[in-house]
Amino acid sequence: MPSADSRVLDGRAVAQRIKTELRQELATSINKPVLAILSFQNPASEMYLKAQKREAASLGIGVEPQSLPMSARQEDVKHYLDQWNRNRNIHGIFVHQPMPEQIDPGQISGLLDPRKDIEGIHPQHSVRRFFARARIGSCTALAVMELIEATGVDLAGKEAVVVGHSEIVGRPVGMLLLDKSATTTICHVGTDQAGRLEEHVRRAEILVVAVGRPRMIKGAWIRPGAIVIDVGINVQGGHVVGDVEFEAAKARAAFITPVPGGVGPVTVMMVMKNTVEAFKLQQGA
Ligand code: NDP
Repeated sequence: MPSADSRVLDGRAVAQRIKTELRQELATSINKPVLAILSFQNPASEMYLKAQKREAASLGIGVEPQSLPMSARQEDVKHYLDQWNRNRNIHGIFVHQPMPEQIDPGQISGLLDPRKDIEGIHPQHSVRRFFARARIGSCTALAVMELIEATGVDLAGKEAVVVGHSEIVGRPVGMLLLDKSATTTICHVGTDQAGRLEEHVRRAEILVVAVGRPRMIKGAWIRPGAIVIDVGINVQGGHVVGDVEFEAAKARAAFITPVPGGVGPVTVMMVMKNTVEAFKLQQGA
């Protein structure tokens, strides 16, 4: 249901629109895509897996889930990836992040069949990603762009600030914003340690925060009229909260995503969209 407050960007409504488009696309296809999902046994991963299974089922996308304990080793992950890479009936592979600390995500990305890599993390995709030209890109980064696009605001020449520079969120978001001609600054832990985070955030007409620290961005820092996209998911006092002080930020922003109900549902739908895209690529479309 759309949010009553027009400043709150309703991720569920955006996800629903994408779902309707995917449904139409899949309606004409006799065969359906199958997505293999490797998750780890922790509450965040299990919640995400549940949402992925639910949306896949409602679109007729097959799911082959495999959940590993947090003690899983690199060889265990490799075993499933090898098996899914070889299986012609699996069209997409998604590995949940963060992985347990004994597993090196950099090595895992290289083990994926690039044609089945739903997050676009295989090294073969990195150049296209750098130029924001990947046919299959980071699901979260694409979700952020969908939400910004839903505001109808033209990004050309706008001051965009991204907080966080991870491989699957901050960096690809930065490249996609640059591709839309926004003047883009990427902040990270060094920016904060230099005491300059607030100064950058205050300039932002478009602010994307993807750190994973509850309410670290203060509402008072938000530039009046800004678009604020909060990617962060944190559990604090039994509640899920974002990286931005929501109420105080909302009072100043033109648009803001809530947590939960903002980036999350759109990201899940982008996983489905990328699965369909990988399926089409493998069918030669
Ligand atoms: P990572 O831990 O991989 O990256 C966090 C980033 O934040 C790093 O680039 C880090 O910089 C930076 N950072 C850490 N501390 C600070 C600081 N004090 N000031 C500025 N930057 C800082 O996380 P992800 O990118 O994978 O995820 C970020 C958040 O988004 C998490 O809460 C995650 O749960 C959530 N998430 C939500 C999704 C959704 O669909 N809503 C999907 C994916 C993630 P450095 O490397 O220099 O330390």
